[in-house]
Amino acid sequence: MIQSSGLAAAVAPRRIGRAHYYPNVTDAEWNDWKWQFRNRVTDLDQLMKLLPIPENERELRREVLRDFRMGIPPYYMALIDADDPHDPILRQAVPIAEEYTYRDVGDEDPLGEESYSPVPGITHRYPDRVLMVISNSCAVYCRYCTRKRIMYEDAVPEMEIDRMVDYIARTKTVRDVVVSGGDPLTNSTAKLESILAKLRAIPHLEIIRIGTRVPVSLPQRIDAELCEMLQKYHPLWINVHFNHPRECTPEAARACDLLSRAGIPLNNQAVLLKGVNDSVETMKGLVHGLMKMRVRPYYVYHCDPVRGSEHMRTTIAKGLEIMEGLRGHTSGLAIPQYVIDAPGGGGKVPVNPNYLLHYDPKKQRAILRNFQGRIFEYYEQLPEEEMLQRRLVASANATPAAGPIALTSSHAPRAPELPAAATPAAKEVRTRLSRAAANGNVNGKGGAKSNGAHAANGTHAGGAPAPQGPGSIAPAPPATETVVGKSKWAHRGRARRDPS
Ligand code: SF4
Repeated sequence: MIQSSGLAAAVAPRRIGRAHYYPNVTDAEWNDWKWQFRNRVTDLDQLMKLLPIPENERELRREVLRDFRMGIPPYYMALIDADDPHDPILRQAVPIAEEYTYRDVGDEDPLGEESYSPVPGITHRYPDRVLMVISNSCAVYCRYCTRKRIMYEDAVPEMEIDRMVDYIARTKTVRDVVVSGGDPLTNSTAKLESILAKLRAIPHLEIIRIGTRVPVSLPQRIDAELCEMLQKYHPLWINVHFNHPRECTPEAARACDLLSRAGIPLNNQAVLLKGVNDSVETMKGLVHGLMKMRVRPYYVYHCDPVRGSEHMRTTIAKGLEIMEGLRGHTSGLAIPQYVIDAPGGGGKVPVNPNYLLHYDPKKQRAILRNFQGRIFEYYEQLPEEEMLQRRLVASANATPAAGPIALTSSHAPRAPELPAAATPAAKEVRTRLSRAAANGNVNGKGGAKSNGAHAANGTHAGGAPAPQGPGSIAPAPPATETVVGKSKWAHRGRARRDPS
């Protein structure tokens, strides 16, 4: 039981944690994943012994469980604050009255997986990769699960698995398989190994990925024996599924660490859920928690419109707001890609806040917005007249000098051969450059005493503003003035005017 720190003794302790829910369970039991799996909370009577359920909701919740099962391992149960009916862990695992309200809203198969299934258990939507469902059960049943329809808790028959393997072996374009379910890690290690061995024997299959929520809901399942087996089948990747920072516990961190040490890269696929992680603060806490466990935040999925989960879905605007709140406010490595799985099998569509406000490929010019809302003008290439000016300056300065030289009017270089000016602005540049060259000042630096060490931000060393674009060439210095040789100005960037 976790005591609220720093509060007066009169404040009741929070009803959360193993000591609150399972005070008599031994360490040996608690750390045994099979004990955890066997003792999942699966019906309402068990649940009511652990959580207060309002009387008027009991029948509704029982009704919900006729539609979609519940399974909460004691470890995951212990993360729930029993006194908070809106607890984010509870909302993910416990059927609530709203699920009853929305039981007829949404699709059984919102992603159209069945219609892309050449053999039972395989979804082949993208040319080079397939999804392979090898389990119909999970450690925890998430209320928003896209595959609610397949959770029977029956073992997938051997023959069906062989047919899936055979399909992959026959389909030479498949180089990547996502082994999923249900949760593949609810299989015994021996059964999982037999499947991985068959897959690894397919020569054209390059990558095996496993999708699992076990490190979140049943981290005890990740043990040395499992990791030893998995590392025989590299290259193997694992996608995990953390949704809330409170799921990043020491137990989960230990599980992720074991997998990482077995050489398995871990990527997280979170789902954006109303009342669970639909705020910048929570999502930031999540991605930081993941990074500390060496798990890369990979995707944030918009919650699919699956039957009975409407109460957990939020708006795309909320998703964009969260992504805005991450970009620039935490490390780029910690920022997942927000995606919407297009209905009926359209695949993942990346959805991003708009940072490219305008792009003109002809003018090779873009207007960009940064994370602070500041606006920047960006050129792929400089406008023609400015390019011309810089070429002329560079060319005129290319005098064979081994160091600073003094130019007098007699040494002044001639205006270089000028390409035909294509625009009036370029003509103007040409004319002014010619005039400047005739006066011995071809480098465009009004301050002839400059030592050539202009700051990159375009200000003269002496603090005077640098020329700002075409037509801003400074007046020529007296012909006898000493001018330092080769200016680096033409080779450096300069500050742009902010178009805002
Ligand atoms: S763990 Fe994954 S597959 Fe299982 S119920 Fe949750 S979301 Fe669905």
